[in-house]
Amino acid sequence: MSSGPQFPLPANEAEVSFRPGTAAATELGKALQQRDVVEIPTVIGGKRYFSNEVVEVRAPHDNQRLLARIHRPTEAQISEAIASSKSVAKDWASLSYASRATILHRAADIIATRQRIRINAATVLGQSKTIDQAEPDSACELIDFLRFNAYNAQRVYAEQPMSVPTAVNRADWRPLEGFVYAVSPFNFTAIGGNLTTAPAIMGNTVLWKPSEKSALANYIFFEALEEAGLPPGVINFVPGDAELTTRVALSSPDLAGIHFTGSSSVFQSLWKGVASKVDAFRTIPRLVGETGGKDFVLAHASANASEVAIALIRGAFEYQGQKCSAASRAYIPKSLWPAVSQEMRERLSQLKVGDVADHDTFMGAVISQASYQKLSRVLAAAREDANVKLISGGKTWSDPGYFVEPTVFEVSDPKHALMKEELFGPVLSVYVYDDAAWEDTLQLIDATSPYALTGSIFCTDRFALHHAEQVLINAAGNLYLNDKPTGAMIGQQPFGGGRASGTNDKAGSYLNLLRWASPRVVKETYLPPRDWQFGA
Ligand code: NAD
Repeated sequence: MSSGPQFPLPANEAEVSFRPGTAAATELGKALQQRDVVEIPTVIGGKRYFSNEVVEVRAPHDNQRLLARIHRPTEAQISEAIASSKSVAKDWASLSYASRATILHRAADIIATRQRIRINAATVLGQSKTIDQAEPDSACELIDFLRFNAYNAQRVYAEQPMSVPTAVNRADWRPLEGFVYAVSPFNFTAIGGNLTTAPAIMGNTVLWKPSEKSALANYIFFEALEEAGLPPGVINFVPGDAELTTRVALSSPDLAGIHFTGSSSVFQSLWKGVASKVDAFRTIPRLVGETGGKDFVLAHASANASEVAIALIRGAFEYQGQKCSAASRAYIPKSLWPAVSQEMRERLSQLKVGDVADHDTFMGAVISQASYQKLSRVLAAAREDANVKLISGGKTWSDPGYFVEPTVFEVSDPKHALMKEELFGPVLSVYVYDDAAWEDTLQLIDATSPYALTGSIFCTDRFALHHAEQVLINAAGNLYLNDKPTGAMIGQQPFGGGRASGTNDKAGSYLNLLRWASPRVVKETYLPPRDWQFGA
C-alpha cells in the first residue's frame, strides 16, 4: 500500500436514545411532522434531472401522506450515467486510497451528526420503521458500513505477495475494468450505502438503482456523499424503472460487476441476463448477491421456554418480519411448546401495531399494497387449511395503511409451504416435534427450504448443541446460539448466506471488498540471467 495515514479499527456506532422527553425525540418528532414533499431527481455526473415520469412515495402506514416524488430517468439518461462513470473512472482509481477513505469518513460523520434525524425520519416514514428499528439501520449500520469499508480496504491493500533476495513482487489492487451496477432493496437504508461505497472505496465507479420504496432515505445518503466531496459521476443516482435500468446496464460492454441485495428471484434473473451474453462484456462481470431467507429457530428440550418465546417475537416480528434474517419457521419440542406458545400469545396480545411515529408502537405497516395483498391471501388460505392451526394474530386492515397483525401458525406437516417459502411479512410458522425426534428434526431443517441465510439454536446441552451445529453446517451463513437470528453487527457478524440466499460474500467485511478488486501482480528481477542455461 502506498504510504499514507493508517486508519484504526473503528468501533460500532452507538445508538442514540429516542426515549420520549429526550432532545433527540423532540427533534425527531418535528421532522416527522414536516409536510414538505421531496422531489427526488436522477443525478448524473453531479447534474440533477427532473422528468415527466414521476413515481409517488407514500407512507406505508398512512397512504394519504405523500412524502416524495421520484423523477425517473429516461433510457438515454441511464446510458448517459454509464458514460459519465466511464469518464471519471481513471481519475477516481488514481486517487490515493486515503483520499477515498476520507470521503467515506466525512459522509459517516455527516450522517452521525447533522443528517441523523433527517435520514432516520425518512426511514421511519418512507419504510414504516419504528425509531427503535430505524436508528440501528439508517444511522448506526450505515455509519458502520462507511467506516468499516474504509478500514477493511486498508487491510486488502496491505496484502502483498512475498519478495525474495533476487526479486521484488507486488500486488496492484486495481478496481474492476468498467462500472459496478448496485441494486438495493427497500428494507435497510444502510444496505444502499454499502452496495455503493464498497465498490467505490476500491476505486470503482457505480451506477446506483435504489428501490423506489426506500428512495427518500437513499437520496439523503447520496446528498451526504456529495457533501463529503464524492466527485461527480463516481456514483450516479439512477432511481429508474427496474427492468429498463437493468436492460441498459446489462447491454453495456463496460458492466464489470453487480452488487445486489434483494429477492432470490431477481438476483437469479440478473445472473441469467449476464450469463446469456457473457461474451459481450469486456471482462467477466463479478456477481455478488445477498438474497432471501427462510430463517429457522430450533429449540432443544434443554432450552429455556421464555428465552425462546422472546427470541421468536423479536426475531419474527420486529420491522414486520421484513428482515432477510427474520425468524419465519420454528421447531419447538413438545415438552416446551405449551409454555412457549402461552408466553407468545400473552405478549403478542399486548404488542401495538400502528403508527410508527408513536413511541409505544412495536410494528408499523408492511411496505406496499402488493405485499399486503400477498400476505392477506396467505393468511386467508391458512385459515381454510386443516393442517394449520392459528395460534395468534391473523388480522389485516388497509386503512390508513397496510397493516398485518403478528401471526403465529402451528403446522402439522413440516414440509408445508409455510415452512418453505419466504413471505417477507409478520408470519411465523411453528412445527412441534417429539422430543425424541431431535435427530430427524435436524435433517428436516436442513432439507426443507432452498434458503440458507440465518438460523438460531436454543440449547443448553453442549453435546446436543455441538452436534446440531455440525448437521446444520450448510443450513445458514449466520448461525446464532441462544440468540434470535436477526441483528447482525458490522465487524462482529459479517453477513450473508449460501444456497438460494446468495453468494455469501459477507457484507461489511474485507471478503466483500475482494470482489471489487482485480489484482495485477508485478515481479521485478534484480539481475536478469545473461545465459540461457539452467544455473547460469
Ligand atoms: P426486490 O428483489 O423486490 O428488489 C430489490 C431491488 O431489485 C430493488 O431495487 C428493485 O427495484 C430491483 N428489482 C426488482 N425487480 C427487478 C428486475 N426484474 N430486474 C432488476 N432489478 C429489479 O427485493 P425487496 O422487496 O426490495 O427486498 C426484499 C428482499 O430482499 C427479500 O427477499 C429479502 O430476503 C432480501 N434481502 C436480503 C438481504 C441479505 O443480506 N441477504 C438483505 C436485505 C434484503
